[in-house]
Amino acid sequence: MSFILHGIAVSSGIAIGHAHKTASAALEVMHYLIPRNQIDTETKRLDDAFATVRAEFDTLRSSVSDGPALAEFSAFLELHHMILDDPTLMEAARDIISQTQCNAEWALAQQKNVLLEQFEAIDDAYLRERKTDVEQVVDRVLKALLGHPGYQPPPSRHSGDHILVARDLSPADIMQYKPHQFTAFLTDMGSLTSHTAIVARSLNIPSVVALHHAHQLILEGDCLVVDGCQGIIIVNPDKYVLDEYRLRQSQFELEKQKLRRLKSVKAVTLDGTTIDLLANIELPSDLEQVKENGAAGIGLFRSEFLFMNRDDLPGEEEQFEAYRTVATQMRGKPVTIRTFDLGADKNLKYVAQTAANPALGLRAIRLSLSEPQMFLTQLRAILRASKFGNIKILIPMLSNLNEVNQTLHMIEYAKQTLCNEQTDFDEKIQIGGMIEIPAAALSVEIFLQRLDFLSIGTNDLIQYTLAVDRVDDSVAHLYDPFHPAVLWLISRVIQLSARAEKPVSICGEMAGDLQFTRLLLGMGLQQFSMYPSQLLAIKNQILKSNLPDIISLAQRIVRADNPEKMHQLLMKLNS
Ligand code: PEP
Ligand code: MG
Repeated sequence: MSFILHGIAVSSGIAIGHAHKTASAALEVMHYLIPRNQIDTETKRLDDAFATVRAEFDTLRSSVSDGPALAEFSAFLELHHMILDDPTLMEAARDIISQTQCNAEWALAQQKNVLLEQFEAIDDAYLRERKTDVEQVVDRVLKALLGHPGYQPPPSRHSGDHILVARDLSPADIMQYKPHQFTAFLTDMGSLTSHTAIVARSLNIPSVVALHHAHQLILEGDCLVVDGCQGIIIVNPDKYVLDEYRLRQSQFELEKQKLRRLKSVKAVTLDGTTIDLLANIELPSDLEQVKENGAAGIGLFRSEFLFMNRDDLPGEEEQFEAYRTVATQMRGKPVTIRTFDLGADKNLKYVAQTAANPALGLRAIRLSLSEPQMFLTQLRAILRASKFGNIKILIPMLSNLNEVNQTLHMIEYAKQTLCNEQTDFDEKIQIGGMIEIPAAALSVEIFLQRLDFLSIGTNDLIQYTLAVDRVDDSVAHLYDPFHPAVLWLISRVIQLSARAEKPVSICGEMAGDLQFTRLLLGMGLQQFSMYPSQLLAIKNQILKSNLPDIISLAQRIVRADNPEKMHQLLMKLNS
């Protein structure tokens, strides 16, 4: 029977193949009682299973070669290691065995339920999402107890075209499956910002998440079409549908190949306006992708990733090396380093998140100013690296003039300490601010007076303007970049920056979204910063755009208040 499933498209591309389902160990857990004299043996079975999984993690870690996904992968492995070693898991399961004389699998499954209930009650969305990590770790131990191998090779009859269908996949699983060359993967769980989605994007495999019941509805060996662009899965398509998707697949591949030819082409509109296409990076290891896609520079280096998933803070030397590497490798092209945007969903490992509304709490520049020593260390590292390239400093989440003044004061102080030590730095280093809060967009003039450039963080600007938590899947349908209020704020910031003759960029996901390229060009945007893999597609759109044709249409969209009319105008703009 043929049917269609809809989920969230996470990584684009089209794959056609056969389903290979991952087993769900939790379903196979039996409950039986053991004699009192066998408690030690049963406890040892449990200990051995934990040891097996620990060894699996070690093997996994050593099997991953250097590359863009390494840092993220190591962080996930570390998190899973921590869960595995947490006494509330193993020790509690041991106690259950000895107190209730049950089998090890049952004890572990019971303790898993206790932990999941505790996670369910947590207010913080990010921490609540970590519940999935606990499930993944426990399922691994259960598999070890049940004698399942960690990875079950797919049946050979459909070799080479396997599509992994899972209830959920941990990043560790994805890395383990990678050498087996799955062409795509689907999961019941997940959101655009889940760990799985992040790793999927960096691996470039078409994938769709949040399919809810796919694992139940799809059978092993079913023929599947995965449309990673639209988030659609077609199960057992008929011949016509299959032909249509084969055609779309080859068109997609052809398109990608054609785009590669644009790598060294300048991004200039038909009327001759040069547009800067910059890349967003998390770590220096992302530079490979930046170069592959011909970015004109780094528009956003999310420096907080240097601080995450570790037990200590990166010191000045370590940060300096990271910033210098990026600056040197970019050979004079701009490198915009955002000072750490920690807090909300990006936390230091050892700081418990206690705020009721962390996205509105001590995050980004607010945290930096409350931790002057930590901030100073970073500023000194950035300033020292500025001698080796074209570095700019970007301040996240500004909301008032006081924060700007305090930050500028801190930067001056950091410069002074370096001068005292006779250490060189770029004395004219440019300092910019992120416009991510509606208050900042509404009072942008005061920021323009004090700063050299601005960068609009649309991911947060949308979240804060619409009061929609960007990591909460249940309100994802309300997260609307095309909301008139959002467009009006963006357009205002661009216009006022132009009037003040200060550069402005967009570094949120909107900058890499093709449906908005012309609209943003029409608003006057000349700098876009995005995921490196999106750069060439956006460049292609820019090369086909003529500003005089689109400005008035874009302005009509910004002024319109009727959503239907706005969509009609957007279609016209993009046609
Ligand atoms: C943004 O908010 O748009 C942005 C680029 O910052 P981040 O996604 O890191 O919060
Ligand atoms: Mg942001």
